[in-house]
Order: sequence, then C-alpha cells, then structure tokens
Amino acid sequence: MKDKIIYLDNSATTQMDEQVLNKMLPFFAVHYGNPSSIHSYGRETRIAVEGARKKISSLLGVKPNNIIFTSGGTESNNTAIHSVLRDLGCDHVITSKLEHHAVLHTVEYYAKEFGVDVSHVKLNEEGAIDQDDLLAILERKSSEGRKCLVTIMHANNETGQLIETKEVSDLCKRFGAIFHSDCVQTIGHYPLNLSVDGVHLASASAHKFHGPKGIGFLYVHEDLQISPLIHGCKHERGLRAGTENVACIIGMAEALDLFYQRFSKDHLYISELKQYLASLLRKHFPDIQINSGRFSLYSVLSVSFPKNEKTEMLLLQLDQKGICVSGGSASGGGASHVMEELGKTKDYVTIRFSFSRHNTKEELDKVIQALTEIVQPLEAKQITIVESTE
Ligand code: PLP
Repeated sequence: MKDKIIYLDNSATTQMDEQVLNKMLPFFAVHYGNPSSIHSYGRETRIAVEGARKKISSLLGVKPNNIIFTSGGTESNNTAIHSVLRDLGCDHVITSKLEHHAVLHTVEYYAKEFGVDVSHVKLNEEGAIDQDDLLAILERKSSEGRKCLVTIMHANNETGQLIETKEVSDLCKRFGAIFHSDCVQTIGHYPLNLSVDGVHLASASAHKFHGPKGIGFLYVHEDLQISPLIHGCKHERGLRAGTENVACIIGMAEALDLFYQRFSKDHLYISELKQYLASLLRKHFPDIQINSGRFSLYSVLSVSFPKNEKTEMLLLQLDQKGICVSGGSASGGGASHVMEELGKTKDYVTIRFSFSRHNTKEELDKVIQALTEIVQPLEAKQITIVESTE
C-alpha cells in the first residue's frame, strides 16, 4: 500500500476543516435561497450571510460594514488597488518587489495602462522592508504634493517574512497615505485586531486557514469612500456585485472562528514543528541557507540548498516520495520572483515547507530521510552497484 502523502504546502492551501464543511453543507441544497430575495427562503440566507459578516468583523475588531466579501485574496487585492487609485486621489504607489503577483501585476497594470508612478521600497537581505527608505519616499512624494498608496504585504508567502503593520500605518498616517496590506498569509494565522493595526484596507482568503477556496474578504476602513471594481446589482452595499457565495461565506466565518479558538495551542504546536525541522535540516545539511528569519511566520520554513546535480530536481523527487512542498509559491510557475530578488535562484534550489496542525514530527523525520536519500545518494548507490555486480 502506498504511504500516506506528507502535505507540507499549507501556505499554498490548507485542508478544509470537517466542522467547516458541515456548517456549509445545508447551504447548498436545503437553505438555497438567494439572499437578495425578499421571501422567507431569501431572508433565511440573508440572516446567515449577515451573521457570518458579524462574526468575522467582531473577531477582527472592526464593524460589519467594513467587510466586503470577495472571491478571495486576488480579487481583494485588485479591488483595494483599483478603488484607492480611482477614488481616493492617490497618484503614487509605494510597494515592494516581493509582493504576491496579485499585487505586483496589478500595480504593473496601472503603471503601464494609466501611467501611475511606482516606487519600490528597499529591502534588506532577508526581504524585510527598510523603514528609513519608506519614510524617505513618503517625505519626498508628499513634498512634491503627491498622495501615496502604500501596498505592502503583512507576511511574505514564500519566506514568511513579516512586517510591523503598526509602524507602517503610523508612517502612512503622518503623510496622509493610504495603507493597504495583503494579509492573506496572516488573517487566520494570527489573532489580528485590524483597528489597532491601523491598516486602511486588508485582504484575506479563507482557503489559507482551513476554509473553502474561492472566498475571501476585503476590510475597508469606514473613513474611506470607495466604489466597486465589479459592477452590477447592489450586493455588498453596492461595493461588489454578484450573488453572494453563501455556503463559502458561512464556511469562512466558521473557519476563522475555529482559528481563534485554537490559536494558542496550534501556534505553539506549529512553531515547534518549524523549529524541529529547521534544527534537523541544519544538522544533516550544514550547507543550507534558511530564508525564514527570526521575524517570520511560525508556519513557514524556506530553505535553500546549494544547486548541484543532486538537488536540481529536489521538488520533483520529493513529490515522487509522496512529499508535497513548493519551490516558492504554488501559483508562481517558473522561477520565483521573490527568490530572484533575494539572490537565491542562480546557485540555490529553494524549498518552502509550510505547516499546519495536521503535521507531525514523525512526518518531518520522514522528510529528512527522503532528503538524505536524494541529496546524499552517491555513496549509497555505489555500495548497491558493488553488491549487485558480485
Ligand atoms: N496574496 C498572498 C500573499 C497569497 O499567498 C495568495 C495565495 O497564494 C494570494 C494573495 C491569492 O489569494 P487567492 O488564492 O485567494 O486568490
């Protein structure tokens, strides 16, 4: 019988919780009313959708009207950037070269199609943003009479590197800039209070925290008056047209609720898994580089192996051994722009291990065993050859 798959790609997506699924199921075939219908079937699902909005907003310390349901992190990022540039008078974007493509390519689109001016904040070797450089750009642009949109992710999906949102939001406040943060890797991973963190807009995606795919939300601070990216009927108070994805909205609220209930236990457990794998890797492969620094997600461990004929196909070989990991991000395809920016593509092969509460130390022992077979196989092979020719 084939060994059980070892899934260590939880930054790409997570297994949906059974409790979440059970909450969702009745909303497919039993409570299937359209929440915009005024009859009892519609009212029933409207109450469920608004209950989910209330639950999500109270967990995040904000008001229900601040939450717009979207199809996920990509749409939330697109909506945030589009609406701020169009509606709030921002004519300069400050971002980083390590953003997810959902931000990077959206900003590139506005730069190319509408001539929006863009600055990239300097980074240190771990990929942390240089606060002094951010301050200098904000100072320079505000002295030129420009209003800035600062869009910087809360945690990098490849290295796990985190930013201090409060520090960035304080800087933005000083210069009247709007601050959007892609929080897809942190909402449902840390018990955030968005009103304390001071972001104006934040993006989230349910499938990153054991919820369903194709659903997410955008938090928008109440002082911002924005209009929609997707036009149509007056759904989401006129801010996002399209019949609500009722079952997934219910599932997302349940998943976020479960996350808050489990956080202290899970956080400790997952952090230990990360430390355990990091120390085993350092011991068995002393020439690796660990890209997830001290201030990184407790669930991500990015490791670069020196590139050679044994490590070149590492990802594929681990997959053949039933171990699911990513090179950089799952959706990037090709060379990772993050690793390229950090100078880790030419001489290194990078593996991102990302954990969930479903992983175990026994699985990590098997990963080390598999890596040892792949990375140090020459001697083993030679022994086999000698034996077989006798
Ligand atoms: N932003 C970050 C940081 C991500 O990791 C992802 C997903 O990989 C996204 C945005 C896109 O989210 P979604 O898959 O919900 O569109």
